[in-house]
Amino acid sequence: MIHIRTKEEIELIRKSALMVSATLSEVAKLLKPGITTQSIDAVAEEFIRDNGGVPSFKGYGGFPASLCMSVNDTVVHGFPSKYELRDGDIISVDCGFYKNGFHGDSAFTFAIGNVKPEVLQLLKITKESLYRGIDQAKENNRVGDIGFAIEDFTSREHPYGVVRELVGHGVGKNLHEDPQIPNYGRRGSGKRLREGMVIAIEPMINMGTREVFTWDDGWTVATKDGMPSAHFEHTTAVRKGRGENLSSFDPIELAGLKNPELNTSYYTVAPDA
Ligand code: MG
Ligand code: MG
Repeated sequence: MIHIRTKEEIELIRKSALMVSATLSEVAKLLKPGITTQSIDAVAEEFIRDNGGVPSFKGYGGFPASLCMSVNDTVVHGFPSKYELRDGDIISVDCGFYKNGFHGDSAFTFAIGNVKPEVLQLLKITKESLYRGIDQAKENNRVGDIGFAIEDFTSREHPYGVVRELVGHGVGKNLHEDPQIPNYGRRGSGKRLREGMVIAIEPMINMGTREVFTWDDGWTVATKDGMPSAHFEHTTAVRKGRGENLSSFDPIELAGLKNPELNTSYYTVAPDA
């Protein structure tokens, strides 16, 4: 069932989504070589609970943590662990925040230190592809228009692989609702978009093959060829002209710009925003 949210409901989803952005900006302050991903997850969980929220992911289908932390060739759903971040790593950090009956869901991929230029380009293109998808999240478009825009933008000029096994989704009272939002598709195909639908758009783009596999832990998704993968996600309300983001990367990027351990060359926020 696809929900059309009221103005009041959308404001509650916005509050939760902006708390995801706030949580990810706390993460942006901490990332550096030598720090374990599980120590960052612990800080994020405390921040979420201190703000009266519940981490949407913890316990979801048995997921063990508040953040999905997916390093380098892992695509999504990585477990926070004793792994110590290294100079040159990229890490997708995905977070959900639940409060007042509604979830927000957003993800950002960070670059630790001296990341190769071609990997930074993958991050830049993946982030841009998310906004190409959001441009299509408008009344009377169809789900396939979003996926088409993402895939067309990422694969037209780059030999990147668009992951198909995992998709975006409706988000609201449940973390994952209808409809599914694939990152590929045909123009004019799929469910019709209506103003007031709230969806999470989340391109997962691989530098090499689009093929992925799941680790023995049953969760962690990784590229088959071991090449890096990037992931950016916003919670977005369908509107008349284009999607309206309910989450924001601005606080994440502003915090990141103050962290000298991060490469921020693919950020788009103005430093004085
Ligand atoms: Mg997410
Ligand atoms: Mg999601």
